[in-house]
Amino acid sequence: MRIILLGAPGAGKGTQADSIKSKYPIAHISTGDILRANVKAGTALGKDAKAYMDAGKLVPDDVIVGMMESRLAEADCKEGFMLDGFPRTIAQAEALDKMLTAHGIKLDAVVSLEIDDDTVVSRLTSRRVCKQCGEIYNTVLKPTAKEGVCDKCGGEVVQRDDDRESVIRNRLAVFHTQTAPLIEYYTQKGLLIAVDATGGKDAVLRILEKN
Ligand code: ADP
Ligand code: ZN
Repeated sequence: MRIILLGAPGAGKGTQADSIKSKYPIAHISTGDILRANVKAGTALGKDAKAYMDAGKLVPDDVIVGMMESRLAEADCKEGFMLDGFPRTIAQAEALDKMLTAHGIKLDAVVSLEIDDDTVVSRLTSRRVCKQCGEIYNTVLKPTAKEGVCDKCGGEVVQRDDDRESVIRNRLAVFHTQTAPLIEYYTQKGLLIAVDATGGKDAVLRILEKN
């Protein structure tokens, strides 16, 4: 199975991906996670990307496309993959089409997680993440037992730099202008499945199982 998870920041692409993985053991490729790992490791890619990410802007297409070309060539993608956070622009989608054609493979579906902006802002301003193990918390829905300390590993639990409200508003504006056109792009290819992003953590899995 080869799918794309499309949706605004905070729509819950990562949560849906985890649920899908429990049933379909395919590679989960999150461009945001790859970029954050590079920032943390201080690689050249991470240094290039950090300023864009902190401002809520998109990292340039050529950087992302190069990164994804090598990621999709890795062995774990042979049996299938779900893309979380890529493509995010029409140019990236066209580059992906070329990569897939070159490998003689096709996408099965593009899942669009639908959510309104105010829900995103309230979700993301309450999101926290463990610096050490990456576990995701929420100050309202899933607080840590002890404030600022990870239940799993004891690491420091913090707010992501780009989860402040002003940056979230930027990321939403970027989504509406640059990424939302992909909904039309994949509708025309007959691949789009729209899913209500407030439908719970297994919303996408349930729909994939029906198809
Ligand atoms: P979210 O979907 O919650 O905004 P991600 O973790 O997917 O967050 O991405 C965080 C940041 O990484 C984005 O705001 C952007 O700067 C960068 N990024 C991730 N994926 C891409 C991409 N496909 N193209 C350009 N920039 C990207
Ligand atoms: Zn932790």
